[in-house]
Amino acid sequence: MSKPIVAIVGRPNVGKSTLFNYIGKKRVSIVEDTPGVTRDRIYMDAEWLGRQFTMIDTGGIEFETNDKILTAMRHQAQLAIDEADAILFMVDGKTGITSSDHEVAAVLRNTRKPVLLVANKIDTIKNVHETYEFYNLGLGEPIPISAANALNIGDMLDALVACLPEEQTDQTENDEIKVAVIGRPNVGKSSLVNAIIGEERVIVSDIPGTTRDAIDTHFTKDGQYFVLIDTAGMRRKAKIAMPVERYSVIRSLRAVDRADVVLMVIDAIDGVTEQDKKIAGYAHEAGKGNIIVVNKWDLVEKDSKTSLRFTETIRHELGFLQYSPVLFASALTKQRVQRVSELIKYVADQHSMRVATSVLNQVIEDATAVNPPPSDRGKRLKIYYTTQPDVKPPTFVFFVNEPEIMHFSYLRYLENKLRESFGFEGTPLKLVVRGRK
Ligand code: GDP
Ligand code: GDP
Repeated sequence: MSKPIVAIVGRPNVGKSTLFNYIGKKRVSIVEDTPGVTRDRIYMDAEWLGRQFTMIDTGGIEFETNDKILTAMRHQAQLAIDEADAILFMVDGKTGITSSDHEVAAVLRNTRKPVLLVANKIDTIKNVHETYEFYNLGLGEPIPISAANALNIGDMLDALVACLPEEQTDQTENDEIKVAVIGRPNVGKSSLVNAIIGEERVIVSDIPGTTRDAIDTHFTKDGQYFVLIDTAGMRRKAKIAMPVERYSVIRSLRAVDRADVVLMVIDAIDGVTEQDKKIAGYAHEAGKGNIIVVNKWDLVEKDSKTSLRFTETIRHELGFLQYSPVLFASALTKQRVQRVSELIKYVADQHSMRVATSVLNQVIEDATAVNPPPSDRGKRLKIYYTTQPDVKPPTFVFFVNEPEIMHFSYLRYLENKLRESFGFEGTPLKLVVRGRK
């Protein structure tokens, strides 16, 4: 299932990130509160009235341009039009209309995608009349909100989910491993894809996938079915116009949404970029399997410690992807290209692995015997029972006496024990704590 994407567009300082953070705060829980992942995020999974969607703050996307604000805003608006399912255009209700608001509105009026005009910083009801001037933008009725004071945001979200497209289900099926190949332009994604499927039988290609603009490539290898998601333009490549490449961020998030396993391609010369970190964080939180491929390894002068040092640097920079295998490859010389598809299969298996309840409980019992659970005000946490209700990613539920006593560091300890015992290489784990008296 691919979630609809809502892009927030607007001048700097209108309050985009304030709204973003407010909506995001509502879903923080002990399991998801992973330090280092949430900082500086550009995307966020949200849910309102049972509809799930992904929100993107286009203000946080780095465009490959040093241009001034207006150009950056035009890029944002165009990006939203090209890639999002709905657009939330935010203006500053205090400052009133500016010339760049007019410019952006002109761009947004030319799309058929739903646009919601939101006037922020309407901090009290008596200021609502100040929003009327925004009718002049020609985008319908402005919705007054105050992101900082959490006013009228429920009504705004009502209006937002009402204009989202119907949910769509993927028709591709189960024994097929879905792979998203992501990474900055020019790291060698297309070359790698071509090298992987080069000698294999491509079953269907260039057939529009379920997401309107995605093109999937299906192939088999050693009896296993694979689909490479959103390889639109990838195999043909080179003639792709630059502007399309700039927009690859949202496209990548969409591909990640639909994938089981994400292949993060990193350039051996350039290393990990900020954009890589953001997308890797998204993949981690979305619970996807993950493999890091350091491509163009042929260009690196190596000694016996080079790959070790490189691995350490990557693990340091992508702190939350400690579980990902790192593979050094070259699409050009085909070094370890064969290994890539083997690893995809391996990680997909880990990602959907179920462990027997008896063994699981034995492992947790041993872990708590070695290192007792935390206590608080004389009360000690007790884990009664553990189950694994789900896979993709493997999800564990701990039934305990007092969920509040559970501590992040202790969950981390339990996660490490699960990994020591069962592997789970290349997959995040989801740990849930439930109270049971
Ligand atoms: P962004 O650049 O669009 O992401 O804007 P920010 O979210 O960083 O907000 C810019 C400034 O506007 C900050 O100082 C916020 O505290 C302030 N701000 C955001 N929302 C409101 C609001 O509803 N009312 C008022 N008075 N100030 C706000
Ligand atoms: P994409 O934009 O990520 O799809 O990257 P491409 O596959 O188009 O590759 C970008 C450039 O890097 C092309 O000139 C490729 O020939 C080159 N390239 C790709 N993989 C390798 C590699 O493993 N080694 C070297 N030396 N060059 C590579």
